[in-house]
Amino acid sequence: MKKVKRCIYCGNKMEDEEQICPACQRFNDLDNMNEAGQHELRAILHDQIHKSEEKKELGLTFLVVGGILVILAIIFFVLSFRFNTKKVKIFTPGTTEFIICCITGALGIASLIFGFLKFLFGKIDSDYFRDIMNQSEQVR
Ligand SMILES: [Zn+2]
Repeated sequence: MKKVKRCIYCGNKMEDEEQICPACQRFNDLDNMNEAGQHELRAILHDQIHKSEEKKELGLTFLVVGGILVILAIIFFVLSFRFNTKKVKIFTPGTTEFIICCITGALGIASLIFGFLKFLFGKIDSDYFRDIMNQSEQVR
């Protein structure tokens, strides 16, 4: 898989031949950077890493909440089985328990998907900006 070129300042996708980021208009040249430029880059990278770590944490929070909701949904699903007249436990979809099971289940799955994506994109960004940070330290 071809590695996507991204802006070293804002992480926006760039064409291989592009030197100026179309999103933040900054000139991307890690190898020929003066001291002031390096200093500025590192301050921005620090900020970007912080933001992407926050994204990861938010993602994890949603994963935990989603997990709890799915467990609740399973409990309410079990509770929606009722004894019939022959004293046999049967699944009863009309119960309040089953409605709660559907709601918590849907919210739980949505929360898991959102949390997973948030964490994944946060991790991709965090790894990317950390990598640029390492590279900028090697240039010096
Ligand atoms: Zn940019």
